[in-house]
Amino acid sequence: MSVSGIINSHLIMAAAIERHGTDEQKQKYLPKMAAGELRGGVALTEPDAGTDLQAIRTTAKRDGNRGYVINGAKMWITNSIHGDCMALLAKTDPKAEPAHKGMSLFIAEKGKGFKVARKLEKLGYRGIDTAELVFEDYFVPADCLIGGVEGRGLQQVLGGLELGRINVAARGVGIAQAALDEAVKYSQTRKTFGKPICQHQAIQLKLADMVTRVEASRLLVARAAETYARGERSDMEAGMAKLFATEAAMENALDAMRIHGGYGYSTEFPIERMFRDAPLLLIGEGTNEIQRIIIARQLIERNPA
Ligand SMILES: Cc1cc2nc3c(=O)[nH]c(=O)nc-3n(C[C@H](O)[C@H](O)[C@H](O)COP(=O)(O)OP(=O)(O)OC[C@H]3O[C@@H](n4cnc5c(N)ncnc54)[C@H](O)[C@@H]3O)c2cc1C
Repeated sequence: MSVSGIINSHLIMAAAIERHGTDEQKQKYLPKMAAGELRGGVALTEPDAGTDLQAIRTTAKRDGNRGYVINGAKMWITNSIHGDCMALLAKTDPKAEPAHKGMSLFIAEKGKGFKVARKLEKLGYRGIDTAELVFEDYFVPADCLIGGVEGRGLQQVLGGLELGRINVAARGVGIAQAALDEAVKYSQTRKTFGKPICQHQAIQLKLADMVTRVEASRLLVARAAETYARGERSDMEAGMAKLFATEAAMENALDAMRIHGGYGYSTEFPIERMFRDAPLLLIGEGTNEIQRIIIARQLIERNPA
């Protein structure tokens, strides 16, 4: 689960360069990222702005033709301790209206002024490094502006987030399936009132709901991935897959814990880890509240009266 978290942030950065970068940026970064020689990530969220990315405060001020000087802070950044570079979102024009027109995306390699301020301790997903970053007069050369154009940063990163959402949805399927597998196994060996608990109807109702969630999630993820791979608009499909599969992960982790009784709460069984890892999926790559809003807006746009 943790490895896919590391890969996800890396992939979103690579997708932004692949789709929007200059030829030089693609040649310089993509082969090394593909070979695992460079570990990337995305630095969007800030202490006071997560869902509302247009409210970020990090600024990138032009320094003649040489490049940009970046000041600000980023929060919850995956791969930022052990990683090498970040796709960093900053405001090149903080007064722009609408705000996204003043936002730009940079390839930020670690160097002077790029500081890992503190490691963040978490409920789950402890295998991935997550930190707060501070940028103090951090200089990026002009050729690190993705695509060489200012004002397109938010759009450049949002396409990558669609891919990220499908990845998170697939991780949801993984947790939901793993919780189901553990529950099926345990319910056949644990006996109460003289029979395996899988023969009690109350347990069967849970198992039926769990397997149905897994199958439905898997189909939604496959559909979203196919739509994305065809190059079609896939925000609604990715949103539905992310919403359903990650809620399925959380519900299945809880149902598996109930089925395991006290043992589900023990660190000797894998259920408690699933129960700690699943909530991140509800939050990362756009919270599930926001997925619902994206789905509803697309539904209306695709079905005009
Ligand atoms: C372990 C971990 C790793 C992360 N890795 C990264 C990373 O690598 N890079 C990165 O940039 N970020 C990363 N994040 C940050 C993550 O993307 C944000 O936490 C997430 O986008 C939510 O932002 P927020 O925490 O600021 O919550 P807020 O935006 O403050 O939202 C708080 C609540 O309000 C709700 N809400 C907000 N606006 C609306 C609205 N308009 N309508 C309805 N409800 C709304 C939200 O759904 C949520 O329930 C990571 C977070 C965690 C926990």
